[in-house]
Amino acid sequence: MPAGAVIHRATELWHVKGPVAGQSVSSTVRRGRLGDRFRFEAISDAGLAVDLSTGRILDVGEFAAVKARVGDADVVNHGDGVILPGFVDAHLHFPQLDAMGSHGKHLIQWLETYIFPAESRFADKSVARSTAARFTEELARNGVTTSVVFSSVHPVAADVLFDVFDRSGLRAVVGKTSMDVNAPAEVLLDWRADVAAQEVLIAKWHGRGGRLFYAVTPRFVLTSSREQMKALADLHARHPETYIQTHISECEGELRSVAEAFPAAKDYLSIYEDYGLINERTLLGHGVWLTDIERERIADLGATVVHCPTSNSFLGSGLIDLRKTCDAGVEVALGSDIGAGTSLSPWATMLEAYKLQALRGQPLEPEALLYLATLAGSEALHQDHMTGNLEPGKQGDFQVISFDAKPLLRERVARARNPRERLFATVVHGDDRVLDKLYVGGRCLRDSQSRS
Ligand SMILES: [Zn+2]
Repeated sequence: MPAGAVIHRATELWHVKGPVAGQSVSSTVRRGRLGDRFRFEAISDAGLAVDLSTGRILDVGEFAAVKARVGDADVVNHGDGVILPGFVDAHLHFPQLDAMGSHGKHLIQWLETYIFPAESRFADKSVARSTAARFTEELARNGVTTSVVFSSVHPVAADVLFDVFDRSGLRAVVGKTSMDVNAPAEVLLDWRADVAAQEVLIAKWHGRGGRLFYAVTPRFVLTSSREQMKALADLHARHPETYIQTHISECEGELRSVAEAFPAAKDYLSIYEDYGLINERTLLGHGVWLTDIERERIADLGATVVHCPTSNSFLGSGLIDLRKTCDAGVEVALGSDIGAGTSLSPWATMLEAYKLQALRGQPLEPEALLYLATLAGSEALHQDHMTGNLEPGKQGDFQVISFDAKPLLRERVARARNPRERLFATVVHGDDRVLDKLYVGGRCLRDSQSRS
């Protein structure tokens, strides 16, 4: 037994794993390419052994079998709790935390009326610091162990956010948003100063503790000059281990504006493509209105589309065809996209994803929703050797949830016939109240029992 090994015992454990060669994927999830990417595993009276010295998972399975294999380790008994992987929120905006719930007509009007004024406040370090504390607190409260975050245009805000993430113990990819045209002066930064500031942020934070990473972050094509787009592509080329995150094809009004601004462009994607900003480390928020040929090219280039369902319905942006997107071979992950998104809870995001595809006559299976909220995000970041599910060798990033926190959920789950029914009931009823404990690298970051 390794020194400091602990076995977490719970009534059930849920996660999704990549399909094993020769092993058939459950017929319940075989729907297009999405279902071919994983299989659901549910273990009763489960044991999850973690080596506290490395933070890594040593073993997972039925408790008695894990105990027999691991030996004389300490046992943490979570009683009726369920263990599942920490969530990955692959797209959200830090400076929009307090702009959630701003009534808007459509994307551009909403940005101009609420969001640019809200983000302009983040030039102030004290605003950034106090908001970052609440932002990371909300992520932990909702079981999010890895998040991919747009900060504001201001270098100080991104620096402060990294610092608060560093202290929080959570994993994060953060980008200082780049904008130099078509917005109020308070949220613009000259492209030369912008790149210089990012060089400093990358040197200071990218790779810190194996938990923090940098993303080159043009907001979208309408708010960056050609000089800035080129400079950002060059910046990423100098630091190819960083990520790229941006927005694409969110709503129809935006498509019209982009077509007017770039009359010679083949399509929306080609604008990013021509600068060299689309590769396997690119995360593209939304992608609601992508064409077939754009999906094919995204798949070929290995980029990920981050579906943000509560944002899409809130702003009336449109109904993405997830099956078509997945069938084209595009990697898809899930994001809250707050402040246009309406909840930081991945349970709410999963439920909205289910509803939007139900409106298309293609409701997602419970296991597919769990995949999108966990392993899919880790795959998008090429961190699935480290996070995304509870396989031995990965980091011990997991949450323990309790059905007792919500009477309706407790009663519904008591009537469920199997783990996937319990999972789906939790998708419908779940929120921050169901989280009992949260662990990153085997370390407990949040314990609802000891919460004041
Ligand atoms: Zn966004």
